[in-house]
Amino acid sequence: MNLKTSPLSVYLPFNRDCLRGAFVPAKLATKPPSPSGHWLIVQEQGLIVVPEADRLRLPVGELPEGFDGHLGSPIWLGNFQGTPCWVAALARDAAVPAGFHRETLIPMQGTRLPDDLLSLGGMALQALHWESTSAHCPRCGEPTERIEGEWGKRCPRCRYEHYPHLHPAVITLVRDGSRVLLTRKAGWAPGRYSLVAGFVDNGECLEGAVHREVKEEVGVEVTDIRYVGSQNWPFPSQLMIGFVAAYAGGDVVIDRDELEDARWFPVDALPSGPSRQSIARFILDHHARP
Ligand SMILES: [Zn+2]
Repeated sequence: MNLKTSPLSVYLPFNRDCLRGAFVPAKLATKPPSPSGHWLIVQEQGLIVVPEADRLRLPVGELPEGFDGHLGSPIWLGNFQGTPCWVAALARDAAVPAGFHRETLIPMQGTRLPDDLLSLGGMALQALHWESTSAHCPRCGEPTERIEGEWGKRCPRCRYEHYPHLHPAVITLVRDGSRVLLTRKAGWAPGRYSLVAGFVDNGECLEGAVHREVKEEVGVEVTDIRYVGSQNWPFPSQLMIGFVAAYAGGDVVIDRDELEDARWFPVDALPSGPSRQSIARFILDHHARP
């Protein structure tokens, strides 16, 4: 199936499909001999970019000057626009050299990064997260070895193998005719509401997780659960699986441990949040109306 034309693809940032074929992951490309090309330099949850008059771009070429001695080992992510893409972590306390700028990768913090750089930056975050959490065997504690040609790690002592962990979470828009049920967590920007969301538990199917999360967070029953798209979310490693569901009864009872508020909104008066880069916004924009 050609993903570029697949009606199932949701072209949101952080989904690799958003790059429309311009990115070839390491597994499908040939490893370059030395670190040169596009640089995805990450400091905490920000991406180092070169500001130009009308855009932000990645550093390209040999390792940019000024970063020597402050970067972790470069990791080859794959090729972008035919050029190798290298990921490296910049030490938390290192100054950003002149001519460069650190831009947040977090949509809720108002990132100015375009969607392609968000998507590459998200994969860079995930690669660094994986490296930082997979250096030792989770079963016996022995230092692990990289499995050739894979992201996976193998333990030389007990032979345990593991691969990057993505955590499935369901995110659901509850609809009832011309109104939708939205929730708000404490600490969010004023007026920001979003959809019911939560992680899938052991033993649960996705529909079961939707039923449970909606019931737990807002107290209502839902039916007619329908999948509408997904988004890889690299903070640090969720797979957000989007659904719409029809309200089937019950009063709104808010889980005060999780939420500050939950309420029905008419579809012609939806709140402005969540951010445009999120699947929550995508679902509201495309699926709020019955
Ligand atoms: Zn082990």
